[in-house]
Amino acid sequence: MHEFFLDIVTVMQSQLWFYLLTVGLVSLCVGSFLNVVIYRLPLMMQREWQTECRVLLADELKSNKSASAPKPFNLVTPNSTCPKCKTAIKAWQNIPVISWLLLKGRCASCNNPISVRYPIIEMLTAVLSLIVAYTFGATEQALLYILITWVLVALTFIDIDHMLLPDQLTLPLVWVALIAAVMGITISPTDAIIGAACGYLSLWSVFWLFKLITGKEGMGYGDFKLLAVFGALLGWQSLLTIILLSSVVGAIIGIALLSIQGKDKATPIPFGPYLAIAGWVTLLWGSQIQAFYFNWLGY
Ligand SMILES: [Zn+2]
Repeated sequence: MHEFFLDIVTVMQSQLWFYLLTVGLVSLCVGSFLNVVIYRLPLMMQREWQTECRVLLADELKSNKSASAPKPFNLVTPNSTCPKCKTAIKAWQNIPVISWLLLKGRCASCNNPISVRYPIIEMLTAVLSLIVAYTFGATEQALLYILITWVLVALTFIDIDHMLLPDQLTLPLVWVALIAAVMGITISPTDAIIGAACGYLSLWSVFWLFKLITGKEGMGYGDFKLLAVFGALLGWQSLLTIILLSSVVGAIIGIALLSIQGKDKATPIPFGPYLAIAGWVTLLWGSQIQAFYFNWLGY
């Protein structure tokens, strides 16, 4: 079994096409699962809060003793159904991208349209993972960054939908990034720990300063944790680049949305997606960006 595994690794390292094909296919399937995470995780959190509130309000608990336990709802149960007609989705209808194309974007039972966002997220997950795989080759670093990429896709779309970056997704990435540093995959553990702390504290300070001056909240605690992830992966030295880059990304997307939606309809936009995009770009091309930057400044 071990030898078989080693053979696979050798083939991956010598045959680029086989490696990229594997990453592409696995990422398509992961993208399909990410659609479930994006849809269900916020609902699961909401249910949890509701249950906690009920427990806190002991009165209600006493009067509702006979109430039956809620049906299980998590990332694997119940099976996926059509949101309109509740018909269970069959295995052949669950193949990433292909099923959506075969069904022509419609439910097989009720003919209601299935959002094009599902295949787009699957494709996006695969394309981003392939870029990481191609850039870093068949290495431990590539595997780590592909894992990070998957979680970033989920975080980005959950934040767009709910203005929320769940701890269940951000915090494990902080710990994974710190352990990767200890294992010698990324940067020195010292840089990683200081990076995580500075990532969190820098946005935390901005948040409180902004709140004290304006009385408004410009971002959420999830954003601090997400920057802590990138600090742990890239070190404190990259934090300024990421923050500057996320404002550039924010400005570009903001102007684009404003021109599409018009000024009146401009909705508050979460900061998480900009941070995720900027962090991901820095993960891949951080040294080139910094070189360009210092060159531009005349160093
Ligand atoms: Zn249906």
